[in-house]
Amino acid sequence: ILTVAKDFDFFYFVQQWPGSYYFSIHGLWTNYADGSYPSNCDSSNPFDDSKVSNLESVLQEDWPTLACPSGDGLKFWRHEWEKHGTFAESIFDERGYFEAALSLKKKANLLRALENAGIRPADGKFHTMGQIKVAITKAVGYEPFIECNVDSSGYHQLYQVYQCVDASASNFIKCPVLPHGRPCGNKVEFPSFSSASSRDEL
Ligand code: 5GP
Ligand code: 5GP
Ligand code: 5GP
Repeated sequence: ILTVAKDFDFFYFVQQWPGSYYFSIHGLWTNYADGSYPSNCDSSNPFDDSKVSNLESVLQEDWPTLACPSGDGLKFWRHEWEKHGTFAESIFDERGYFEAALSLKKKANLLRALENAGIRPADGKFHTMGQIKVAITKAVGYEPFIECNVDSSGYHQLYQVYQCVDASASNFIKCPVLPHGRPCGNKVEFPSFSSASSRDEL
C-alpha cells in the first residue's frame, strides 16, 4: 500500500480573549493528527498585503494584534499566514485563509455561547472548567480546549480557546489530539479588563 504524506490533517482555530468586548482571532493552524505540525522554511508564498487590502477593516476588528497595539496588524497576519497558512495551499490562497478564519469566528460565536450559559466577563468571579466547556460544547457541538494565564493575584483566567476544524477549514470537529496550552485548574476567571496582567504574556 502506498501512503501519500498529507500536507496536514486538521486545523486548530485559536481565539484569544483580550479581556475586553469580544474574542479575537489568533490563528488558524495546520496540524497533524499525531500532535505535530508542519513548520515553515519554504517561503515560496510570502504574505502579500495587497491580497487582503479590502479585508483590512474587518481583520482590524476580528484579528487585531494585541502584542503590538500600535501596530497595524500586517505583521501579525503575515506571521500567521507564513507560519500556519501556507501549508494549506491545496485548499486556499492567502485571501481564502483569512476569509476561512473570519467565517469560523462567526460560526463559533464564543461570547454568545458563554453568555447563553450565564458566563459573562467579570473580574473576581469564577467558573469551573466544566461550566466553560459545556457552554461552548452546547453551542458548537464539540469540546474546545481552554488555555489560561495567571492574573496578578495568581488566579487562572481564560486566555485562549482552541477549536478543531476539518481539513476543508469549514466544519468544527472533535479534536484528533489536544494542544499543549497552559493549564487552567478548575477555577477560572473570565476577566472583563484589559489590564497589564492579561497582556503580559502576549
Ligand atoms: P504564534 O507563533 O503563536 O502563532 O504567534 C505569536 C507571534 O505573533 C508572536 O511573535 C507574537 O509576538 C505575535 N503577535 C502579534 N500580535 C499578537 C497577538 O495579538 N496575540 C498573540 N498571541 N501573538 C501576537
Ligand atoms: P481529562 O482526562 O480530564 O479530560 O484531562 C486530562 C488532563 O488534561 C487534565 O490534567 C486536565 O487538566 C487537562 N485538560 C483537559 N482539558 C483541558 C483544557 O481544555 N485546558 C487545559 N488547560 N487542560 C485541560
Ligand atoms: P506557545 O509556546 O506559546 O504555546 O506556542 C508558540 C507558537 O507555537 C504558537 O503561537 C503557534 O504558532 C505554535 N504552536 C504551539 N503549539 C502548537 C500546536 O499544537 N499546533 C500548531 N500548529 N502550532 C502550535
